[in-house]
Amino acid sequence: MLVFLDGMPMGRITSHVRHVVMRNDRFDNPDSGALDRSTQRLREARRVIVLTGAGVSAESDVPTFRGPGGLWRRYRSEELATPEAFARDPRLVWEWYAWRRDRIASVAPNAAHRAIAALDRRFPDFLLATQNVDGLHEVAGSRRMVELHGSLWRMRCLRCGAIKDDRRSPLPRLPPQCACGGVLRPDVVWFGEALPEEALKSAFDAAGAADLALVVGTSSLVYPAASIPRLARKAGAFVIEINTEPTPLTPTADVFLRGPATKWLPPLIEEK
Ligand SMILES: [Zn+2]
Repeated sequence: MLVFLDGMPMGRITSHVRHVVMRNDRFDNPDSGALDRSTQRLREARRVIVLTGAGVSAESDVPTFRGPGGLWRRYRSEELATPEAFARDPRLVWEWYAWRRDRIASVAPNAAHRAIAALDRRFPDFLLATQNVDGLHEVAGSRRMVELHGSLWRMRCLRCGAIKDDRRSPLPRLPPQCACGGVLRPDVVWFGEALPEEALKSAFDAAGAADLALVVGTSSLVYPAASIPRLARKAGAFVIEINTEPTPLTPTADVFLRGPATKWLPPLIEEK
């Protein structure tokens, strides 16, 4: 059973895991050769998969729901990011999404997004699987990408199923309406919903074929996304993890680079 959704509320689980994992000093002191080993492996790689999470966007000041100043009215995301909440009060749920869209619309991709877009251009065999819904990878130039939790910038009609891009901010009316007259919902994955099958299959296929997996800014706690690097590892890929905190993936990663994505990605890809 997967629980996550749409980018945010991982705090409680993460702090528990941190307590367990952080006693190992190895994670606090990556040896000096870790970056060199990683750049070398990346130079030799042919098939690359990248998995990203909220940590990649953190330095673009994408507001988190729970962070300082991030609380939207008095709601918790679990009360808004569900099909039930939307059925009950589509306008309320849309106000929250409109609020997030407004904020993200003024945010620029950072050096980590740009580095990942550079990898997309470098490797003929490449896939980015992101859990972020903010669309910043695309703005940075990433093209071969699956959005495992959907996108804030897409809407889906509840009546006819049509999916459309809509980058307007602010939106002229809430809830937005489809040309067929149906109500549009954000095309994101809500609590209790399954991840888009096709996106997930592409990610699993790419992971199974990859010789290098790069896992950036994700807690690696929530399945099925968390199984992507594990699949790659099993298939023999070299796994590089970049995160500010150790995660359940860390003990099995070949290299763990501890810190913000913007610190490690630019030197890792060796592009100025
Ligand atoms: Zn429709």
